[in-house]
Amino acid sequence: MATTALPIVDYLIFDESKPYLRAQACRSCGAEFLTRHNSCSRCGNRTFREVRLPRTGVLESFTIIHRAPPGIPTPYVSAVARFGESVYVKARLVDVDPSPERVHVQMKVSLTTFSAATDSQGTEAIAFAFKPSADETDEMEQAP
Ligand SMILES: [Zn+2]
Repeated sequence: MATTALPIVDYLIFDESKPYLRAQACRSCGAEFLTRHNSCSRCGNRTFREVRLPRTGVLESFTIIHRAPPGIPTPYVSAVARFGESVYVKARLVDVDPSPERVHVQMKVSLTTFSAATDSQGTEAIAFAFKPSADETDEMEQAP
């Protein structure tokens, strides 16, 4: 059985070795949006071009979730990161101890992907999360 992998959202691209997010940039003012817009919410222009967002973003906000529906392990970090100048993306922050001592606003994060589910024909749904970026890890390892 051949396995096919599909992104869970159309703005997640993993056709190369490392995943990235694709945004829509206004052709008039350059404002970027993660999802398709009929018109730019900054200037009203109606034409866009696709742009590749940087792989590294900045953590802007987070909360540590301690209660969740059955089957969802807690605690985990629900986070909002900014990619580029103005694209805000919500996802889990993984590969880090979910504690206020290890997670902080302005830390650098990068994208990581994981298999969210596989259907009966072997098609895999690929979702994304954030993880501390290698730069961030380096900084933390160098700290006294
Ligand atoms: Zn615009």
